[in-house]
Amino acid sequence: MRDLLGLNQLLLAFLIFVPFERLFAARPQKIFRRGLLTDMAFLFINTWLVMAGVIAIVTVAILVNRSVLPAALTRAVGDLPYLVQVPIVILIADLGIYWTHRILHIVPAMWQIHSVHHAVEDLDWLAAIHQHPLDVLFMKVGALFPLYALGFSTEAIATYLAVYFWQTWLVHANVRLNYGPLRYILVSPEFHHWHHSSEAEARDKNFAGFISFYDVLFGSVYLPKAKKATTFGIDHPMPTRYLALLAYPFIAWASKRRSNNSSAVQHQLSNDGAPAQPRQSAPLS
Ligand SMILES: [Zn+2]
Ligand SMILES: [Zn+2]
Repeated sequence: MRDLLGLNQLLLAFLIFVPFERLFAARPQKIFRRGLLTDMAFLFINTWLVMAGVIAIVTVAILVNRSVLPAALTRAVGDLPYLVQVPIVILIADLGIYWTHRILHIVPAMWQIHSVHHAVEDLDWLAAIHQHPLDVLFMKVGALFPLYALGFSTEAIATYLAVYFWQTWLVHANVRLNYGPLRYILVSPEFHHWHHSSEAEARDKNFAGFISFYDVLFGSVYLPKAKKATTFGIDHPMPTRYLALLAYPFIAWASKRRSNNSSAVQHQLSNDGAPAQPRQSAPLS
């Protein structure tokens, strides 16, 4: 029977990362930590929510491949040997991940979606799946759309997806691993832990998924030598249950709209000579 939910891979990840985190723990942390049940819900429900979106992204990308891009280009890409395609696929996909991730941080409405991932305070391997389904889909657009549109082979893309699957568990894992001189080339757990840090100077840094050199190139790298990231999360309260986290961006957007509407009314009243009231924003959760 096909392992549709990825249970076999999850079991394998559990058998690898739980002892790995015990042996090389970056911080003392329990296996059965806060939010474990919520993460399980993310794992089992997100898979189904994301699947339909991924099919749509791949379908549109294939349409672009067949009817928009020059056939000479897509044929040349598809004819490249597998071993040449794989590193190019990783470079292109991670460039897509880098910019999608950076946009998710910069654009306020998109940050409401991505902040669900940053709500994790007890960072470990399983935190990798604590992600709003819309966030996963945006990342898939950034990574997969150019690959299918350009015509890379299914085998090369499948290899990238398999490697990325393990990379996401690894970079979130609570382990001391910084890759030494390679840390400015490849994304290590230490590099991504800083991305989740609640410290002000680490905010909006280290966006890459695989190639940390992209952060060096685009001026967003943060890897202090004498310090380690120790506290994680964001500076406002977030829901802790799965359904509340799923609803969070929609509630935040509605709240922002209400707040903008009331500001517009107050502005109108003050223009009409009525006293302006202090602005109040509605609670998000
Ligand atoms: Zn982020
Ligand atoms: Zn992360």
